[in-house]
Amino acid sequence: LEAQTCRLADAPAQTKCGQPLHFCSNIDFKEEIPSIRSVGARGVGLFRSENLFIDNTKPPQEEDQTAYYKEMAEELFPDPLVIRLFDIGGDKLIYSTIREPNPNLGWRGIRILIDVPEILDSQLLAILKANDKGNIQILLPMISSIEEIMQIQSSLKRHVDNLNTIGLSCCEPDIGAMIEIPAAVLIIDEITRMVDFISIGTNDLTQYTLAVDRNNEIVQDLFDKFHPAIIRQLHTIITTANKNGCRVSLCGDMGSDPLALPFLVGCGLRVFSVVSADIPLLKTLGRHLDVKESEALARECLSFDSSEKIKAHLKEFQMRHV
Ligand code: PEP
Ligand code: MG
Repeated sequence: LEAQTCRLADAPAQTKCGQPLHFCSNIDFKEEIPSIRSVGARGVGLFRSENLFIDNTKPPQEEDQTAYYKEMAEELFPDPLVIRLFDIGGDKLIYSTIREPNPNLGWRGIRILIDVPEILDSQLLAILKANDKGNIQILLPMISSIEEIMQIQSSLKRHVDNLNTIGLSCCEPDIGAMIEIPAAVLIIDEITRMVDFISIGTNDLTQYTLAVDRNNEIVQDLFDKFHPAIIRQLHTIITTANKNGCRVSLCGDMGSDPLALPFLVGCGLRVFSVVSADIPLLKTLGRHLDVKESEALARECLSFDSSEKIKAHLKEFQMRHV
C-alpha cells in the first residue's frame, strides 16, 4: 500500500469505478499552504481562523485579517479557501473572562459572533475585501438553528450593500454551516435548503451526541465515532444534502480514518477535508473502492445496533478490498 501511495500522489482522486473524490486540507495557519499542493489537496476545506487571535484572547484587526485572507486566497486560486468564522469559546480560545461551569455547552462559536457584532463585522468585512478572486467561502461554526444562519446571511448582505454603495464592488462568498450539533441534524432538511454548502464536524458531533467531553481523558473510551447514533446521523446528513442539491463535505477527524472512508463514500460523500499528510493514503484507498459495494456496506452498517458490530464489519470489508 505504501508503494502505491507514493506512486499515486499526483494521480486524480477517484474510486475504482471512476467516481471523482475531492480531498482538501484542514489548516490552522497560512504557512501550511505551500505544502498542501504537494500532497494533491484541492484547496482548503477548513481554515480554523480563530488561530489568528492575538495571545489567544484578542481578535485581530480588520486590516490584518484582510491582508492575511487575501494572501491565502491568492496563493490557493483557483482552488477554494473555506474560512470558518472564529470558533472561539468552549474548549478553544478564552475570549471572555467569565468562568463558565460548562464551557462546551456555553458561549461558543456562532453565539459569540452574534452577541459581539464588532468581532463578526470586522471578520465579514475583511473576508469581503480579501475576496478579489472569488474563491473564498464562509463556514459558520456551532450552528444549532436556522435563525443563526439567517442572522449571518443578513449581516453579510448588509456589508455587501454598504461596500457597493461606496463604490467597492465585491464578490459575495458562498455561506456554509458546520453540522456538528445534533439539533442541526434534526433540521438538516431546512438547513440544506438555505445554505450553499455544509461541512460535517464529526469531532463535536460525537461530543454532543454522546455527551462525552472531547478533551476529558476519563471518558475517552466512550468517544466513539462509530456509535450507531453517529453512523445514522452521518447517513441522514449526507443523503439529505445530496437530495437538496447542497454541497456537502466532512472536516472532522473521522475523514482521515481509513475504516470510515468506504462507509462515507457509500452514503454519497465525495468531498473530504483532512490533515494534509493523510491525503495520499486516502487517495490510494479510494482507488480500491467501488461505489455500489460501498453503498451496500453503508446499508449494512445502518442496520447494526452497536459500534462493535459496525467496526467489525468495516474491518472485514477493508480486508476484502485493500
Ligand atoms: C469538528 O468539530 O469536527 C471540527 C472539524 O471542528 P473543530 O475540531 O475545530 O471543533
Ligand atoms: Mg467543531
